[in-house]
Amino acid sequence: MRIIRSQILNKFGNLLHGVSTMDFSDANDLFGFNLSFSVGDDPQKVLENRQKFFRLLGTDYSRAAFQEQIHSDIVKIVNAPGNQGKSDAMITNKKNIALAVSIADCTPVLLYDYENKVIAGVHSGWRGAFQKIPVKTILKMKAKFNTKPENVVAYLGPSICVDHYEVGVEVAEKFPTEFVKSKNGKLFLDVAGFNYKMLLESGIPEQNIERSDLCTYEAKDVLHSYRRDGKKSGRGFAVIMMKGENE
Ligand SMILES: [Zn+2]
Repeated sequence: MRIIRSQILNKFGNLLHGVSTMDFSDANDLFGFNLSFSVGDDPQKVLENRQKFFRLLGTDYSRAAFQEQIHSDIVKIVNAPGNQGKSDAMITNKKNIALAVSIADCTPVLLYDYENKVIAGVHSGWRGAFQKIPVKTILKMKAKFNTKPENVVAYLGPSICVDHYEVGVEVAEKFPTEFVKSKNGKLFLDVAGFNYKMLLESGIPEQNIERSDLCTYEAKDVLHSYRRDGKKSGRGFAVIMMKGENE
């Protein structure tokens, strides 16, 4: 399985990160390397896939921290691996904890405060973005770890592009018009663009932010997309971890 990596996070040798992709090398794996237990996939297969993905990343599945994502603005401070319960963003200053954001179309945002050595993984689809979860994550990093946004690098991983994300008027009208595109009487929302703007407005320098240009919907057989595959869609992971031992 190929792992998508960020150029900006790659610059930090103490970080381990990556986004999983689809893999059809196992003919019995109908979801194409799904990492979620919640989509009707065989749990044994999901477990095997998770173990394989974290091994390929360079760590062990036992180091992974997960959340039960509910499209909220709940941000958790994580101090140990495992299930963190209901939230959509996790922050840690601990090494050897791999924050795993589950994704299919929604924007994953990976943050790294290189000054204070703090990381965060954010799940920000339209509901999370509307509730400003990236901003709230940065505010919590500030409050708990004295993070200064100018010392933060950010990676917006692959997500659905505006041209493939049609929304109803009730969703579109929640967002500034610059993120809503109107075409043939239909409305389309640029969730990644809105997330990007929030990072900028939080004070992260433009040159510290990388945006993936991959669209999950378009990247057939590469990335999971709920809009494209519906109930047959699996989920991938976007992961960030600091290597090393905790003092
Ligand atoms: Zn697209």
